[in-house]
Amino acid sequence: PILANQISAGEVVERPASVVKELVENAIDAHSTQVDVTVENAGLKLIKVVDDGDGIDADQVQTAFLRHATSKITEQRDLFRVRTLGFRGEALPSISSVADVVLKTSTGAMGTEVTYKGGKFVSQSASESRKGTTVEVRSLFYNTPARLKYLSSPNTELAKISDIVNRLALSHPEVAFSFTSNGRELLRTSGRGDLLQVLGAIYGVKTVSKMVPIQSEEPDLAINGFVSLPELTRASRNYISLILNGRFVRNYPLTRAVIDGYGSKLMIGRFPIAVINIKLDPALVDVNVHPTKQEVRISEEPKLGHMISNAIRQMLATKQL
Ligand code: ADP
Ligand code: MG
Repeated sequence: PILANQISAGEVVERPASVVKELVENAIDAHSTQVDVTVENAGLKLIKVVDDGDGIDADQVQTAFLRHATSKITEQRDLFRVRTLGFRGEALPSISSVADVVLKTSTGAMGTEVTYKGGKFVSQSASESRKGTTVEVRSLFYNTPARLKYLSSPNTELAKISDIVNRLALSHPEVAFSFTSNGRELLRTSGRGDLLQVLGAIYGVKTVSKMVPIQSEEPDLAINGFVSLPELTRASRNYISLILNGRFVRNYPLTRAVIDGYGSKLMIGRFPIAVINIKLDPALVDVNVHPTKQEVRISEEPKLGHMISNAIRQMLATKQL
């Protein structure tokens, strides 16, 4: 199983940022209200995620490290209406196959602590009873030198982690996030459900003063969010965030729809800053396209695209008066 887990780790755990993404998604799925992420040396020395969520029962902890063990899907048809961020049961076994992992968890009563090294179970013992889960990942990729070699510079890897944390924070304004790298706090959000506060924490209050709300609703779909006025642009599409039912997704046609909403108001090579929340019946979304679950298939994509473009166009029209 260690080999199989290392192979699936190749898909799920490409780099330190993927570990952060999987651990934070688990924290969110566990109904956490506060998630604190700490990294050292761009995650290669340490990735630590502390949450205050549901926790895992002591007798279930070792199961959580088994491949395809998930507590989130019980029937095949659940696959077609996924509401949680995770469902494949691959993250913990994959991460633990390429690192040293200590997981402490408690559901409120006596807690438990497990240690895995290079995919092998080492020990389990009693631990503190603070409700929630702490996962510490050390020496990432120590046993997969090819993967280590393929990583970019520490600064680039840290930027990728930061980007992931930012997008998770934008997707979940109701969760208070902090992100600390080598002792420096890089992000803190309030957890009060205020998307504009999260945007301010990430992009700065001055930037956010040039962003305006958009909203649109139809019987089976709804969008809301904030987009920048045409005077506030970036040189990359990367500042357009699409969040589908609480999951950050990459989708070219919908990104295009955001840009199209600006018509000729954008200069060539310039792109808006935008965060668009999309609420859609989970039955219309296939998230099981890729192991990282960032690519999705949406059956109402063209309709949704028009809705996004129109909402932006209308908002800009009112601002030009
Ligand atoms: P998945 O998220 O796809 O179910 P994972 O390997 O990420 O698979 O996690 C396996 C299981 O471990 C989850 O289904 C969940 O029951 C449990 N788990 C993992 N992380 C946490 C956490 N932070 N809080 C509570 N339960 C967790
Ligand atoms: Mg998971």
